[in-house]
Amino acid sequence: PSVFSAIEMAPRDPILGITEAFNADTNPNKINLGVGVYYDDNGKVPLLACVQKAESILIEQPTPRTYLPIEGLAAYDKAVQELVFGADNAVIQERRAITAQAVGGTGALKLGADFLKRFSPDSEVYISDPSWENHRALFESAGFKVNNYAYYDAATHGVNFPAFLAALKAMPKGAIVVLHACCHNPTGADLTQDQWGQVIDAVVTNGLVPFLDMAYQGFGAGIAEDGAVVRRFTETGVPLLVSNSFSKSFSLYGERVGALSIVASSAEEASRLLSQLKRVIRTNYSNPPVHGGKVVATVLATPELRQLWEEELAAMRVRIKATREAFVQKLKDKAPGHDFDFVREQVGMFSYSGLTKEQVAKLREQSIYAVDTGRICVAALNSKNIDVVVDAIAKVL
Ligand code: PMP
Repeated sequence: PSVFSAIEMAPRDPILGITEAFNADTNPNKINLGVGVYYDDNGKVPLLACVQKAESILIEQPTPRTYLPIEGLAAYDKAVQELVFGADNAVIQERRAITAQAVGGTGALKLGADFLKRFSPDSEVYISDPSWENHRALFESAGFKVNNYAYYDAATHGVNFPAFLAALKAMPKGAIVVLHACCHNPTGADLTQDQWGQVIDAVVTNGLVPFLDMAYQGFGAGIAEDGAVVRRFTETGVPLLVSNSFSKSFSLYGERVGALSIVASSAEEASRLLSQLKRVIRTNYSNPPVHGGKVVATVLATPELRQLWEEELAAMRVRIKATREAFVQKLKDKAPGHDFDFVREQVGMFSYSGLTKEQVAKLREQSIYAVDTGRICVAALNSKNIDVVVDAIAKVL
């Protein structure tokens, strides 16, 4: 027997399990709605033109692949700050925000978790019920106890706001509360601006530590609109962590481009935080990879490319909205008596469709794959497959 002999098989990832079953299905008309990726109307993951143009620019000016600074490419970190906080935000002018390039949004969350564990080791973490499935595992692996706060209400297909607010008010001072800045994954149920105001008041009054996770900026109402909640938090002066990801908004999943930003109460405090965050990074992976960061920084800092990106991102957002509308309309025709209007109100890539585990299993018999919770990726629907999906749903209702 060796150190490895007694190691047990780890549980399967539920979403990757769907992909495996989908890949093994020999039906040529199979449809995978279980994914967490944006597909275009041809069912393809887009390669954005702004990304291709930025890559051409980079190839024309080849540079040696030295190490980046521990906190990443300076031009990238600056561009991220301006995007996430708004270029005119006082936290940037006053040098109170620090930003480190991270290995995707996941890497940003892990950096933030490790950082918090060093300086607030006894705090507990609160995530929404339900939340992105990796939130719990990530914070637990950093050593935190992770609790759920009430969020989704299956009966209304929306947020149970009174219960959420009550949960916030009951959290102990110093608790770390993970909030989806926009496009809640997995439910698609977001807060109104008025509700955000009440959340911010509760966080400030109760002395909670907000950790905003923004993986879908630009997929909800727009780049600035989706970032509005981050700016509102910065106006309160509370300590704040923000993880963001360009996986979806640049369709750069495999390049692993994200960032962690932390807002301090002064420039002097910010420099201490950055020095400590660099230690966390140094002992994890030393410094981030070059390519994805350069692509994003080039796009964001080159006016024509930036314009192109905003148009391409808007096209993705608009296609998702139109798909929601078509889905609701088609279900009205095919399944009268069943109300799917809530799908229109949901925001971002996902919809908690209200389909039960049994209905999801029956869909699978027709080679349509969704998550057991009823989560479907609206961006996996397109003009060629939507009728097949709607007919299949109508059959299992
Ligand atoms: N947070 C949320 C809410 C997400 O949905 C995701 C990814 N789907 C991430 C973080 C991680 O992003 P990335 O893929 O860039 O690691």
